[in-house]
Amino acid sequence: MSTKKIAKIIAPSAPHFVGDGFRVHNFIPGISTMEEMDPFIMLDYNSKYTFSPSEIPRGVGAHPHKGFETVTIAYKGRVEHADSSGGGGVIHEGDVQWMTAASGILHKEFHEKEWSKKGGEFQMVQLWVNLPAKYKSGMPGYQNLRNADMAKIPLSDGGGEIEIIAGEYEGHKGTAATFSPIHLFNAKLKKGSKKTFSFPADYTTAILMIEGSARVNDGETVHQDHFVMFKKEGESLTIEALEDAVALVLSGEPLREPIAAHGPFVMNTREEIVQAFKDYNNGKFGYLED
Ligand code: MN
Repeated sequence: MSTKKIAKIIAPSAPHFVGDGFRVHNFIPGISTMEEMDPFIMLDYNSKYTFSPSEIPRGVGAHPHKGFETVTIAYKGRVEHADSSGGGGVIHEGDVQWMTAASGILHKEFHEKEWSKKGGEFQMVQLWVNLPAKYKSGMPGYQNLRNADMAKIPLSDGGGEIEIIAGEYEGHKGTAATFSPIHLFNAKLKKGSKKTFSFPADYTTAILMIEGSARVNDGETVHQDHFVMFKKEGESLTIEALEDAVALVLSGEPLREPIAAHGPFVMNTREEIVQAFKDYNNGKFGYLED
C-alpha cells in the first residue's frame, strides 16, 4: 500500500455570510472544481464564531435544492430545519443531517430558537454530495443522524476514537444511507495519537481540521480550519495529532458524470437546469412558509 500524496493544503478563505446565520469559508469548489472533487460538489465551513443572543433566530429562509444531497454536521450550536417534504427537526451538537434533495425540495435553516436567545459559539460544516444521474429525479429524503446512534470505534492505543458518519471503517458501518460509496468520519485523536486510514487510490479524499493541529503523512503540519486535498494516487494517509484534535475525513468514489450546476441546482445537462428552474417556478418543489 502506498501513501496518498498531498495535493494542496488550503487555508480558510475570507468568510462570507449565508443568510445571516452561517459565516462560512468555502473550500469546495474553492480553488478546485466540482469535477476535481467529485462526488463532493460544495463544502462551506462555519469555523468557530460567536453569535450574540438574538430573539429572532438567524439563518436562511425557504430556498430550493435539486439533484444532490446536503449534509450538515453540527460541531457547536444548534440548527432547526424544516422542508417541503415534511422533514424537519433540530440538529444538536454532534448530530448530522443528511438531506436528499433529489427531484427538488424547499427548505429553511435557522439557529434553533432557544440556542439563538442565548447565543454562543457556533461551528458547522455543510457538504453537498452529488447524486448519480439515475437518482436525481428520485423522492426527496431526510436522515437525522443522531450522535448517540453513531458508531464510535475506540483506537486500540486509547488515543481517541473514530466516529463514523457514513461508509465503513475497519469493518464498522456508519448509519447514513448513501447513493454512491462515501466514507465520512470524525477522527477524534488525543495529542500524540497517530492513525492510518486507507481508501481506494481513485477516490476523492480530503481532510478538514475541525479542532487542533496534526501532522499528515509524517510530513506537513495542518492547522485548525485548514483543508487538505489528496492526489488520486496511493491508498493510505496518516494523521498524527500534535494536540487534541478532530479531523473530518472525507473520501468518495467519483461519479464521473457531466456536471451542470447553477446555484442550488446540480444536474447533468444545461437543459435539465433550465427545466429545474421551470419546475421550481411552477411550484413543483412543494410549498414552505418562510
Ligand atoms: Mn440549503
